[in-house]
Amino acid sequence: MSVRVVARLRPLLDKELDKDIIVDATGEKDGKPSSMVRIPNPKNEAEEFSFAFNGVYDMPTPQEEIFTNEVAPHLKSLFQGLDVTIFAYGVTGTGKTHTMRGGMKLSERGVIPRLLSGIYRRGRKVAKDSGGETSVSITLSYYEIYNDKVYDLFEAPEKRSLAGLPLREKDGKTIVVGLSEHACDDLKDFEKLYIEANNNRSTAGTKLNAQSSRSHAILMVKVHQTDSEGTLTSTASAIDLAGSEDNRRTENGKERMVESASINKSLFVLSQCIDAIGRGDKRIPYRESKMTRILSLGQNNGITIMILNLAPLRSYHLDTLSSLNVSSRAKRIEVREIENEVVFTQPPRKGAPVGGATLQQRQPL
Ligand code: ADP
Ligand code: MG
Repeated sequence: MSVRVVARLRPLLDKELDKDIIVDATGEKDGKPSSMVRIPNPKNEAEEFSFAFNGVYDMPTPQEEIFTNEVAPHLKSLFQGLDVTIFAYGVTGTGKTHTMRGGMKLSERGVIPRLLSGIYRRGRKVAKDSGGETSVSITLSYYEIYNDKVYDLFEAPEKRSLAGLPLREKDGKTIVVGLSEHACDDLKDFEKLYIEANNNRSTAGTKLNAQSSRSHAILMVKVHQTDSEGTLTSTASAIDLAGSEDNRRTENGKERMVESASINKSLFVLSQCIDAIGRGDKRIPYRESKMTRILSLGQNNGITIMILNLAPLRSYHLDTLSSLNVSSRAKRIEVREIENEVVFTQPPRKGAPVGGATLQQRQPL
C-alpha cells in the first residue's frame, strides 16, 4: 500500500485580512524549491519547525490543481482494480470540506465532483476501448461516523436507528452491514444524490446534535467493470474527517465531551496507526476505532492520499503544529513503500482479485 501526504494551506478569508500569518508553505527555501511547511516554535518564536511532505500547495492553489496533481493520476489504477482513498485531515476551518466538496461554481468544485467526472470519463473510455466487451457501472454509498457510530446518509434521519450500522470483516476488508448502495449513471444523478445525502447530514445534525465538523463523512464510489469473465469491483473513497483540534481546550458541556472524546479517540488511533506503519510494526491498532477500521490504513493494498489542510493564522498555532506532527509522520509510510515499489511494479491482471478489489463470478443466465 502506498500513502502520499500533501499539505494545503488555505488563503486568508476576507475577515482575516488583518491577521498574522505564521505558516510558510511557499515551497521554496534559499531560492530552491522544497516541499516543506515551516512554522515557528510556539515556545520560542526565534526557532522554526520544518515538516517535509510529498507535496505542498500554497495559498493561491486552485481546486483544479489539487485534483490534477493528486487524484487524476490514480484513476488508471482504480480501473485496474486498486482501491483509492483520499482523505482530508486538519483543524475545523482549515478547508477540508472546501477541498473535498468545494463550492458550486465550476472552478470551485472540489475533489469529489471532479473525481466523479473523471470516473465517468474513464468508464466511457474503457467501455469503448473494449469494443463493447466491458460494461462499466457506478454505485454510491455515503455515510458518516458520529460518536463512533455509523449512519447511512441516504437514509432519512427519522428512519435511522440511533445504534448505527454494524461493521464486519469480509475478504480482508471492513464492510458496513446494511449500508445502502445507489446506482449512479451520470454526473447529474450524482449531484442529485449527493445534495440529497448532504441535506440528510445537516438534518441529522439537528436530531443528533452533530455538526459536520464533528463527524467523519465517507463517500464510497464503487466502479464495477463487467465482461464475459466476471465483474471487477474497486472502490474510490473520499473522506472528510472531523476536525482534529484539541477539543479539551475549547469545549465544555457533557454532550460535547462525549463527542470530543470519540473524535479525539478516532483521530488519536489514526495517528497511532500512522506511527505503527511508519515504524514497520506488525501490529497496527486500526481495530480500535470504527474510522480506522474502515480506513484500514496499512491493511489494504490500495493507494491512499492524505491531504493535510492548514490555516495560516496564529490563532491555530498549537493545533496546526499537532496536525503537522501527525501527518508528517504519515509520510514515512510512503517512503518505505516507494523503496519497495509495491504498487506500480506489478499492474494487476484484469479480472484478478487484487488489493481490496473483489471478483464476483457472473451468475449464469
Ligand atoms: P473545514 O471543513 O476544514 O472546517 P471549510 O472547508 O469549511 O473548513 O473552510 C473554512 C472556510 O474557508 C470556508 O469559508 C471556505 O470556503 C474557506 N476556504 C477553505 N479553503 C479555501 C481555499 N483554498 N480557497 C478559498 N477559500 C477557502
Ligand atoms: Mg468541514
